Amino acid sequence: MTVSREIHLASRPAGSPKPENFRLVATELPEPGEGQTLVRNTWMSVDPYMRGRMDDAPSYIAPFALGAALEGGAVGEVVASRAGAVPVGATVSHFLGWREYAVLDAAAATVVDTSIASPADQLGALSTTGLTAYAALTRTAPVRGGDVVLVSAAAGAVGSVAGQLARQLGASRVIGSAGGPHKTKKLLDVFGYDAAIDYRRGDLPGQLAQAAPEGIDVYLDAVGGDHLQAAIGAIRPGGRIAMVGAISGYNATHPAPGPDNLFRAAAREVTLRGMLVSSHFDLFPEWIGRAARLLADGTLRTETTVVDGIERAPDAFLGVLSGANTGKMLVRLGAQR
Ligand code: NAP
Repeated sequence: MTVSREIHLASRPAGSPKPENFRLVATELPEPGEGQTLVRNTWMSVDPYMRGRMDDAPSYIAPFALGAALEGGAVGEVVASRAGAVPVGATVSHFLGWREYAVLDAAAATVVDTSIASPADQLGALSTTGLTAYAALTRTAPVRGGDVVLVSAAAGAVGSVAGQLARQLGASRVIGSAGGPHKTKKLLDVFGYDAAIDYRRGDLPGQLAQAAPEGIDVYLDAVGGDHLQAAIGAIRPGGRIAMVGAISGYNATHPAPGPDNLFRAAAREVTLRGMLVSSHFDLFPEWIGRAARLLADGTLRTETTVVDGIERAPDAFLGVLSGANTGKMLVRLGAQR
């Protein structure tokens, strides 16, 4: 019998989530049945979209159930198996994070090649995180040679990949926005941005005008609100905006007002297009091949912010919503460190 500690949704938040919305629970797991595996999770991902799943509201993905374990991306080691394709000792990625052990149907586990990337990168650059940047900048708001590109939440998981990718795709100038001097320095020193905006200093339109005096062609929007408004204010004719996320509003208790300059998008024939990474999974093989090469030759630089222990997973999640992470926020689990 395996005892697994897991994080349950104890209550739904109003506004910003709090530690009391989560509960640590010890559960006895059944032995894996025919076609199943027992996985000891070593790493799990915490992501902004999980905030939406804490609400009992219809969306593109079902709400988390009250009183049950949360779910999310994880990587682990197979410790027992009754599925030939997923042997004991394999490293697998799957979707039953927020727990130390998981019993999984083999079909729900993907064996990953840890020789091409670390488990951390398997949950970051090589996962839906990296794919989001790739799909946004190749399909939703494609970067063309010579473009000026703006990325928000630029020091985060998606943003740190997106800036480097924009350069690979031919951008002439890549501008990132992030919160605080530590992160803006990282944008310039590590993630290859040409200019960095610290939005916490205020006057976003003024800072953007200074960083991009001629305006921008592409904007990857992870934030919404004031960032989207400033980007529309700076966009050039024919510009493209990938609406990837709107984290500035995820904890809002009342809907935030929309940008008041949308007619500028009409007058400049700008494309504003939403995207969900799940609609671009066909790009996964292409992206993984490309990202693995870029990681191997050092062209793509990634960082992780690591929190240890399942009991601290809620802290890691609250941290990602408030900007405690640089690069991908991950939780390291168990003895496999
Ligand atoms: P992340 O950027 O690693 O972490 C979130 C970051 O958002 C924080 O580190 C924080 O950085 C920033 N932030 C928080 N509140 C903010 C505010 N009010 N204004 C500006 N920045 C704020 O997370 P991620 O996983 O890479 O996700 C980034 C965005 O992409 C999110 O909006 C997420 O929902 C979205 N996303 C969408 C898809 C899709 O399929 N559409 C897939 C993946 C991710 P600072 O310290 O810089 O504030």
